[in-house]
Amino acid sequence: MITEKPLIITCPVVGAELTKTDYPNLPSTPSEIVEAAVDAAEAGASIIHLHVRDEKGNPSQEPAIFQEVTEEIKRRTDVIVQYSTRGDASVTLEQRCAPLFLKPEMAALAMGSMNYGEDIFCNSPETIDRVLECAGSNGVMVELQIYDSAMLETALRYEREDLLPLPFHLNFVLGIRGGMEGSVQNLAFLVSKLDRRSEWTVSGIGGEQLPLALHAIAMGGHARVGIEDNIFYAKDTFARSSAQLVERVAAISLQAGRPVARTAKAREMLGLAV
Ligand code: ZN
Repeated sequence: MITEKPLIITCPVVGAELTKTDYPNLPSTPSEIVEAAVDAAEAGASIIHLHVRDEKGNPSQEPAIFQEVTEEIKRRTDVIVQYSTRGDASVTLEQRCAPLFLKPEMAALAMGSMNYGEDIFCNSPETIDRVLECAGSNGVMVELQIYDSAMLETALRYEREDLLPLPFHLNFVLGIRGGMEGSVQNLAFLVSKLDRRSEWTVSGIGGEQLPLALHAIAMGGHARVGIEDNIFYAKDTFARSSAQLVERVAAISLQAGRPVARTAKAREMLGLAV
């Protein structure tokens, strides 16, 4: 039987890798990122997964930009803002941690290293421990990003050993070249490792975004949809915006008997302070 539990939609509006050449509508200045986030929240997202960029559109970990963008999003919506702690080679560990001192409600952290397309996504044990420590000391809820089953083993080991600031959230990111394929079998396998009461989100990359979101709706999980993960609405057709992708999943979820969680409900379900 399908659950009636509200669906939490997370929306990643920009990411750190796309350019306007890849996707002409990419929000890339701070004010464009704010607009995209507000539109996604109005379309049904209760969490915005946030990367920021400078005025030239270059990815940045600069706390001042995170602060400016967050303040404007919060002025206009009640959405939960989740910071990226991105891990490409151009960013030092301290730069990755710096925005956490602004005390966002949530931050994302991958629980291991991997090949990532043509790059290496580096999250050493030292990095993981330092990000968790900064998150814990600043009261930031961590979303553990899981790109393969080894990262889930690591996350569950950290939980067993009481090394996580609690509560935490799990996000299965499936379909990155170098990580686990975005198949239903893989999602079902990962979910089978969890306690039945655990909340989880799935982020399908590219063409797997919609199918995996549909499976999350059916399986009682939650879904991340937005431009960072997928720029297409349909085959060969760009999405107009992250909001358009959110709107579609929200409508399907409602049709399937799962209302979309408003932000206050999402906070309650995730165990965030209300
Ligand atoms: Zn991201």
